[in-house]
Amino acid sequence: MDLAELEDILKDEKSFRKKQVMHAIFHELIGDWGEATALSKDIREKLKAKCSLDINAELFESADKNTAKALITLKDGKKIETVLMLHTGNRSTVCISSQVGCPVGCLFCATGKMGFYRNLTVYEILEQLLFFARYLKNKGDRKITNVVFMGMGEPFLNYDNALSAIKIINDGQCFNIGSRKISVSTSGIIEGIKRFSEEDLQVNLSISLHAPSNALRSQIMPINKQYGIGEILSAVDDYINKTSRKVMYEYVMLKDINDTVECAEGLVKLFKKRPLVMLNLIIYNPTGNFEPSSRETVKQFKELLEKNGLFVTQRYEFGQAINAACGQLASRDGKNSA
Ligand code: SF4
Repeated sequence: MDLAELEDILKDEKSFRKKQVMHAIFHELIGDWGEATALSKDIREKLKAKCSLDINAELFESADKNTAKALITLKDGKKIETVLMLHTGNRSTVCISSQVGCPVGCLFCATGKMGFYRNLTVYEILEQLLFFARYLKNKGDRKITNVVFMGMGEPFLNYDNALSAIKIINDGQCFNIGSRKISVSTSGIIEGIKRFSEEDLQVNLSISLHAPSNALRSQIMPINKQYGIGEILSAVDDYINKTSRKVMYEYVMLKDINDTVECAEGLVKLFKKRPLVMLNLIIYNPTGNFEPSSRETVKQFKELLEKNGLFVTQRYEFGQAINAACGQLASRDGKNSA
């Protein structure tokens, strides 16, 4: 579906019609226009003809059913991935993609190896949530509670569409997910961080840092040559001053690359005097180039940071058996080709 097409069909209708339609798609989670009984038969017929509600997706579930991944085929045949993680309690997080492939090219990332094809439309971003919202509705127990823009692509290189999608995710008449439950992760696109600090949003910001020095970061994230650590930290400091919101720095733990004592000490230097900052250590889900740090190394790394007063969290591993790291399925067997 294309939201522009939908707008076009509704252009002569009163404004509340569009709200009814959005509510039917993103709140009632209808799978067929026939279910949208608040709309006239005439509108339903037009929508049925031009705005398909079908989602072409292949589902992969982990054995414990706590992780599910969907490989969605878009209208032009390109593939994107989205992951659902069911946590203890009632928290259900969906990790969504913002681009087909990614131009940033981080060496530890399967999507980065794939190259970049195009930005996702607003609906293509939302379709990923829609898929899992329907999946959970059919299972009958839980709802999506959290959304992270941490799948394929760099959301700040598709800023306008990502922002429009966030507004619909947050809209009480649509997905109705609180802005504090939505997180956007960037590799450090300065223009995006600056724009984001001007938005009147309570959405969380996280930064993919992954190294304490420019020399090391440039080796594993080539974009660092364009947006270096000093510039990123300064843009984030401004963001924090403006919004008073906490920022999460992501740090994927790569064996013998960025998990040394020197690296931990480098992080302490960067963050010791920075308030409202958290570090999130991520256990690496191997995609070929690197190996994950051992549990013992991660533990010691975390202890050193905490001993020096840093606030550190650790992300649990999800779904290795279903290739849950972003880009692993879409790039498998050359499934995305230009
Ligand atoms: S880690 Fe994120 S920014 Fe880096 S290549 Fe992968 S998708 Fe792009």
